[in-house]
Amino acid sequence: MATDDFEFDTRAIRAGTARTPFNEHSEALFLTSSFVFDSAAQAAARFAGSEEGFVYSRFSNPTVRMFEQRLASLEGGEDCLATSSGMAAILATCLATLRAGDHVLCAANVFGATVQLFSGVLARFGIETTFVTATDPSAWRAASTPKTKLLFCETPSNPLMEVVDLQAFAAAGKAVGALTVVDNCFCTPALQRPLEFGVDLVIHSATKYLDGQGRVLGGAIVGRRELIRDAVLPVLRTTGPSLSPFNAWVALKGLETLGLRMRAQSDAALALARWLTARPEVERVCFPGLESHPQYALAQRQQSGPGTVVSFEVRGDSPSERRARAWRVIDAVKLMSITANLGDTRTTITHPATTTHGRLSAEARERAGIGEGLIRIAVGLEAIEDLTRDLTQALAT
Ligand SMILES: *Cc1c(COP(=O)(O)O)cnc(C)c1O
Repeated sequence: MATDDFEFDTRAIRAGTARTPFNEHSEALFLTSSFVFDSAAQAAARFAGSEEGFVYSRFSNPTVRMFEQRLASLEGGEDCLATSSGMAAILATCLATLRAGDHVLCAANVFGATVQLFSGVLARFGIETTFVTATDPSAWRAASTPKTKLLFCETPSNPLMEVVDLQAFAAAGKAVGALTVVDNCFCTPALQRPLEFGVDLVIHSATKYLDGQGRVLGGAIVGRRELIRDAVLPVLRTTGPSLSPFNAWVALKGLETLGLRMRAQSDAALALARWLTARPEVERVCFPGLESHPQYALAQRQQSGPGTVVSFEVRGDSPSERRARAWRVIDAVKLMSITANLGDTRTTITHPATTTHGRLSAEARERAGIGEGLIRIAVGLEAIEDLTRDLTQALAT
């Protein structure tokens, strides 16, 4: 069924569906590692790629393919490849597009493991990375060298919800002749579609909002067919960080409610951010849906919703007092889960300075604005009244 003309919410439910001769209504889960051929000649043709069809689930699998095609449709990309996790998607993208001697520009405020991948792992293979202040659109060109091959960012960022200008980012990549890659984990295509701004590749951690219920790990890479099929697929087939069919099936079903969930969680996050702004215990609130956010106008332009993550800083006279207060608030919540994960229907609360960003030096955290009093909440689908009630009693401790 051609679904390209349908609206987002319809494609989230219908795109990519492929039925077996049983004509099952709900998408089938193909738990099989390999596929049977009619003849030796067909086996040879499948392996050579001269005949379309499944061979081995490290290469592809019908359930995985449904997930890939549905996500490609939602991002507005020509093709998609699924991976075992979000980090596997970033690694596969780098292995497919970089070689020793190349230079990467990466936003300084990306996911912690992404920083480690570029500055630690890839550095050992002769790929050098410069971290830039991504909220400054001129920073990309200023930091580029003739060896710059890849520009990487995430928007909004974790945990401060800083917004990167995607149009300027894509333009900078074109100007310096480098590939542009956006980790679209926080907004998902329900709220932001980087490919529409001219970005080359979109990365996903399906572990977060695509599944949406905190059940499975998964990842994906979306973009032009020639990049996905000719560059990324051979690397993925050979190196093996493929998505399990079971995890693909879970994430595929998760996509069906993506628009609904993201709009509801985004609305609830805005309500919570406004509520926090009025609390005397709170020093500042970081949320792109608030007019006080430095990139409010940009977020309004490039996102169709502010997202679901709200960070705020509790007051205190010294860093140690702010940390003690933040920990007291976190320890006092009764409803929210104390976990660093996000993208779940369950609201989560965490202290970035001692968890997700605990491995950064105190100076690096200071520079990034991730203070000891900062608390991050990823808003789920519980009733907003219960969330504010939970925080009221927690802030009062
Ligand atoms: C979680 C996360 C990742 C990594 O995803 P995994 O599925 O855990 O490997 C990458 N980027 C962002 C923004 C994330 O939140």
